[in-house]
Amino acid sequence: MSYVGPDFDPPRPPRRSRRGPLTIAVAALVPGALVGWLVWQAVGDSGGGGSDGSVTQSSPSPPDTSASDAPFSPTTGTDDADVMEPGKSSSPSSSSTSRPAASGPLKGKVVVIDPGHNPGNFLHATEINRQVDIGTNSKECDTTGTSTNDGYTEARFTLDVSQRLRTLLEKQGATVKFTQEGDRPWGPCVDERARIGNKAKADAVISIHADGSGPGNRGFHVILPGAVNEGEADTRPIVAPSRELGERIAGNLVSATGSAPSNYIGDGTGLDVRTDLGGLNLSTVPKVFIECGNMRDSKDAALLTSGAWRQKAAHGISAGIVSFLRG
Ligand SMILES: [Zn+2]
Repeated sequence: MSYVGPDFDPPRPPRRSRRGPLTIAVAALVPGALVGWLVWQAVGDSGGGGSDGSVTQSSPSPPDTSASDAPFSPTTGTDDADVMEPGKSSSPSSSSTSRPAASGPLKGKVVVIDPGHNPGNFLHATEINRQVDIGTNSKECDTTGTSTNDGYTEARFTLDVSQRLRTLLEKQGATVKFTQEGDRPWGPCVDERARIGNKAKADAVISIHADGSGPGNRGFHVILPGAVNEGEADTRPIVAPSRELGERIAGNLVSATGSAPSNYIGDGTGLDVRTDLGGLNLSTVPKVFIECGNMRDSKDAALLTSGAWRQKAAHGISAGIVSFLRG
């Protein structure tokens, strides 16, 4: 989500200044994927009326624990027609240790997946509200994340997509590491999330999120690190490769899901550049965030709560990462 806490600042008006150059840049990098994107933009409902920048600022409601589908248990969803493969569900040891890599084109490559917002953050307000240094300033350790109006939490969503993504990347031979897998009570803090990627010497890091914006605001966007050189933060070496990573993910996500880029951030490019996120500022390896959709919009929520759509999204993100790592 993008309205509170260390990951995201309060909502800002949509930016409209970079459409041309960014679109051209993406076209140069991912022409195949972009064809689908441009076709979509040509024939789709671009939702131009929903870009007034208004967003929901209220705190997300804690998950409805009376629901039958156990919001705190990311692998027990009832809508997962294509559930994770056996053995891929969360386990206490899997987020802190790299698992053996299979052979494949990504053998030797390390990918760190950061499922945004631990599902337990709701129960640890004191811990996640403490301030951490992100280089440019200090921010809260972490936030709870948002949820759909029906109580499907962002934390649960991000874990599910991350697990699907891990399966796909491991099939390509990548070594995949998680920052958390719901296997710790809360956190980690955003600075630690960044350091996990750094320590792993990751070839690519993806932080998975879903937004909590206003109804009518739809679609995904990928957040790229802007140039920061302050305190412990020096993103200058990762700005260019992170952009390439993000553009490839955005293009492939369109192809895989048929979903359009955000109609309220990035002016149709599906890309946004930020310098206020600790998870990006403190990274020394190529890293992007993805906001897969807006949980507070009913149409986007219908997609985000669909296991079939999440599988498509994982495919798109995986294809982008594979494309980036294979060069
Ligand atoms: Zn989030």
